[in-house]
Amino acid sequence: MDDEKIKRKSPYGSRFIRFLIKIGSSTPLPPAERRKRIPAVAALLVSLFAVTSFSPYHILKGHYHIALGDFIGIVVFSSTLLYIRSRQEAGAAYFFVCFSYFVFFVITTVLGRREVSYFLWAFVFPPMAFSILGEKKGMIASMLFFFVSLFLMVAPEGMVLYSPYSRFVIFRYTVIYLILTFIVYYYEVSQQQLLRHIENEKRRYEIESKHDPLTITRLLNRRGALEQFEKELDRQLRLGRPFTFILGDIDDFKKLNDTYGHDAGDYVLKTVAQIMQNQVRGIDCPVRWGGEEFLIMLIETELEGGKSVAERIRKKIESTDFVYKGTKLTVTMTFGMSQWAGPDDDIDTCIMRADKALYRGKESGKNKVVVS
Ligand code: GH3
Ligand code: MG
Ligand code: MG
Repeated sequence: MDDEKIKRKSPYGSRFIRFLIKIGSSTPLPPAERRKRIPAVAALLVSLFAVTSFSPYHILKGHYHIALGDFIGIVVFSSTLLYIRSRQEAGAAYFFVCFSYFVFFVITTVLGRREVSYFLWAFVFPPMAFSILGEKKGMIASMLFFFVSLFLMVAPEGMVLYSPYSRFVIFRYTVIYLILTFIVYYYEVSQQQLLRHIENEKRRYEIESKHDPLTITRLLNRRGALEQFEKELDRQLRLGRPFTFILGDIDDFKKLNDTYGHDAGDYVLKTVAQIMQNQVRGIDCPVRWGGEEFLIMLIETELEGGKSVAERIRKKIESTDFVYKGTKLTVTMTFGMSQWAGPDDDIDTCIMRADKALYRGKESGKNKVVVS
């Protein structure tokens, strides 16, 4: 799929859903909140539509007290919609929407004692409660409504208007309502699991894309490092503090690979990464910059101080016993260094200077630290 098509295919689904989400929020919402917002807004719009379209009829018929109720409904539902629209999280309004429908369905259940088809409205409650309130509160609300409605169906005539429902209706209602509740519950739980799974995968992918897969301690890779460096640059610009880059490259690594094999090379890379990490502070975040190149940003460190760190690492690597499958390997590294020259300097040129210094180190015999 090309970019244009992806852009046109909205992640929010159909045009109607997009319309609901546009009405329900002025800013983008996290997926879990969006999921609740859409049915809540739909329910409010239905309520608004119902009260607005019935009010002229009630006025014409002279039922002014009902028309007054319609008017109150219009005000309350529109304010709730405006409230929801202004919020990133609108838990209280969701509760209110469900409660309003709860009351409405209680009334239709009572009316069902006179004309049984009214009770059919009850089946709307579980899907509505689960989608707006989520799995736990949805279950509580659905079961609460079930027991209240059951009571309203069986209560004797002296207690509730009209005669009770027939036991056939009550029996079938019970079975169907409970099955429906279970299906909706299952649907809601699996949706939530899916959302969580996607969030976790997204986080994992983000971490993976910024870290090096080979090194045991998962050093940052070039992409993760550039992001980190930009952040650090901002901070140092604000504070007016120095920082220094150390770019290190393993000497004759190709020969090592050719002589002892690629696995031996990988072992050396992992060990070098660990040494680097042990030799610097946590904030200096060593990076696997390329194949056998490592980069360290020494925060709040001048060239002089940085040089002693680089020397320390160089000596440590030279003196470490690299033993791979019983064979002792000789490993050394050459380092190039550069200091950030202030606000007019940028990360890329600064690293380029370290690279040039490194090159001079390679030219002049390797296993040394060269300052730009
Ligand atoms: P110099 O001292 O000038 O740096 O020479 P060199 O041989 O180290 O440099 P060169 O750039 O010629 O070779 C780098 C080698 O690093 C070539 C490549 O196969 C190897 N390499 C890069 N990434 C990996 C890796 O992930 N694992 C292993 N084992 N080798 C790698
Ligand atoms: Mg090399
Ligand atoms: Mg190299």
